[in-house]
Amino acid sequence: MPEQLTVYNPATGEAIESIPQQTAEDVEKAIERSHKAFQSWSKTSAGERASLLKKWYELIVENKEELAELITKENGKPYEEAVGEVLYGAGYIEWFAEEAKRIYGRTVPAPTTGKRIVVTRQAVGPVAAITPWNFPNAMITRKAAPALAAGCTFIIKPAEDTPLSAYALARLAFEAGIPEDVLQVVIGDGAEIGNVFTSSPKIRKITFTGSTPVGKILMKNSADTVKHMSMELGGHAPLIVDEDADLDLAVAQTMASKFRNAGQTCVCANRLIVHESVKDEFAKKLSEEAAKLKVGNGLEKGVNVGPVINKKGFDKIVGQINDAVEKGAKVLTGGTYDQNDEKGCYFVTPTVLSNVDTSMNIMHEETFGPVAPIVTFSDIDEAIKLANDTPFGLAAYFFTENYRRGIYISEQLEYGIIGWNDGGPSAVQAPFGGMKESGIGREGGTEGIEPYLETKYMSIGL
Ligand code: ADP
Repeated sequence: MPEQLTVYNPATGEAIESIPQQTAEDVEKAIERSHKAFQSWSKTSAGERASLLKKWYELIVENKEELAELITKENGKPYEEAVGEVLYGAGYIEWFAEEAKRIYGRTVPAPTTGKRIVVTRQAVGPVAAITPWNFPNAMITRKAAPALAAGCTFIIKPAEDTPLSAYALARLAFEAGIPEDVLQVVIGDGAEIGNVFTSSPKIRKITFTGSTPVGKILMKNSADTVKHMSMELGGHAPLIVDEDADLDLAVAQTMASKFRNAGQTCVCANRLIVHESVKDEFAKKLSEEAAKLKVGNGLEKGVNVGPVINKKGFDKIVGQINDAVEKGAKVLTGGTYDQNDEKGCYFVTPTVLSNVDTSMNIMHEETFGPVAPIVTFSDIDEAIKLANDTPFGLAAYFFTENYRRGIYISEQLEYGIIGWNDGGPSAVQAPFGGMKESGIGREGGTEGIEPYLETKYMSIGL
């Protein structure tokens, strides 16, 4: 592994910064520091942790422009979206600063009059986090905030493509007064650092956002030390447009869900399942809107869709488009791209495909790109069956104006997050997370602090 990691802007190919990478030995030392710091951090009062987190939140909001520019430079997403990410991510810190004060226990009626039973909650211990590049800022705060609020210490290994936001967040945390050993950043090879985390008995919890195959490796490798696990893995979101849907609303929300971050989020609508009676109108409106999106460098004004992160991501997207077209899909808009291997810059034009069917890879794999495939249905149970026909279960969307139909669909969908007439259901106040192979555990809401807490009970004899 080289000593330095150079971070490149995916929109221009320019090097942004070179930073030192950590070896396995460095990471072991970081774990030691985290373990030692846990002894004091876990004993601080909830009020103290809350006020430090609140200060961190305020510093992030004060520095939102600088943080957003960094996100756009290392990830490529348009600047306005990056500001949105910073504020969304900061919202988790504010939320968990408040939740720190509400880590309640219970007293339970004992089996005899001569006993009392008291249930308390305490921090699980040092936590290691591994995060992806698609939200270089918010995927860190969503994990660090509940961990710190609960009294855990925290080590973060950000994605190789986007480590600079992690450092920027950590600097502000230290400025807020959070001790340096309580929140550490390590940079380097995912598998190597992942193995140090999973094999250490001192790390009591792994929290991961990323691909399902890597999540499975982390779970297997954590078995020997029986760690707590939170896994936020892949998605393959269906979006159902029923015959009575408000089509203008459905188009607007599909645009927001599908093309945000150039389609590179785990909750992006991945399969548009549209009633045959409204398909032509929906497809026409969606294609017209998609064609209006401006692709380019996210730091330029008016750009709606930035580059895709790297060649691996680009090859997958283009492979799915080509496979679909070879098997009979029709390109309604887009289908083109701008590839510069020398600079490492890849842009995909927002694409809408019709005549899609289940023989095509795009119906079985997460796309992670700005491509919207449309399939049709005639009976709602057929649409639900198709929607659930995947090992994933993160987010699902549907559009109907009929409440009986809506309740029925929502109860049949095997997904952790449901957007009914809503393409952007994610919120700090809500428990984000998936079913099936999309993961374990929830982030946000009152549930979000649970994975960082142990339960202990004491039986007192009188
Ligand atoms: P993607 O394919 O979208 O980059 P990954 O799951 O490969 O998703 O990456 C998400 C995060 O997981 C990154 O921080 C990456 O460094 C890390 N990672 C990749 N491989 C491993 C591994 N074998 N063990 C632990 N972490 C890994």
